[in-house]
Amino acid sequence: MIYYDLHIHSCLSPCADDDMTPNNIVNMALLNGLKLISVTDHNSFLQQESVAQLCASKGLLYLYGAELTSKEEVHVLAYFNSLEKVFNFSLFIDEHLIKILNKPKYFGHQYVRDNDDNIIKEEARLLLSTLDLSIEDLTMAIKDYGGLSVLAHIDRSANGILNRLGFIPRNLYFDGIEYCHKEHFSDYQKLKAAKKLFLRSSDAHRLIDIAEQENYLDAEIWEGLFR
Ligand SMILES: [Zn+2]
Ligand SMILES: [Zn+2]
Repeated sequence: MIYYDLHIHSCLSPCADDDMTPNNIVNMALLNGLKLISVTDHNSFLQQESVAQLCASKGLLYLYGAELTSKEEVHVLAYFNSLEKVFNFSLFIDEHLIKILNKPKYFGHQYVRDNDDNIIKEEARLLLSTLDLSIEDLTMAIKDYGGLSVLAHIDRSANGILNRLGFIPRNLYFDGIEYCHKEHFSDYQKLKAAKKLFLRSSDAHRLIDIAEQENYLDAEIWEGLFR
């Protein structure tokens, strides 16, 4: 059993605490007995390299990730298994992010830190803005760049697809869903039958909220993820 938390925001996300540094996140994950994590900042991959390096040095499995916002304001988690794919996809995302400047006093800081937690950059564009991509175009792009698309917190009112659109479009491509309370959404049986990936993560914006040993993947699901 691989205990995981695949939805954690670092200090790059303006809405996350500034002490969500690479070292604090990785150390808290280890303390909580996790084996696999992903840092999924809003609409940016700038924090990926340092977190991945730390995980590798401390024996934690890592998935590169981000939480992307479609133009319908639906949140989609994108996961990748290589830094090369992340680099290529991040160029695409940068092009499609609506350009608004961040106001740190109002929205919070957007710090990029190295693997010693030193601040190496503060992102100027507001990462909470949306992409100019429809949900359909976004999930297809994730697929085309070699990633996995997971509809984020689908049963939550803020930015979940069921709340934003009222339903999951019939022809929407996606690899999995992230749920909060599995008994609370309508398409549960249908998605289970379609063998979608089911994930449940913390969406932590504070260190204290990073998951303990609550959710796990079987080893064979983990090994088959990108096949
Ligand atoms: Zn979200
Ligand atoms: Zn989130």
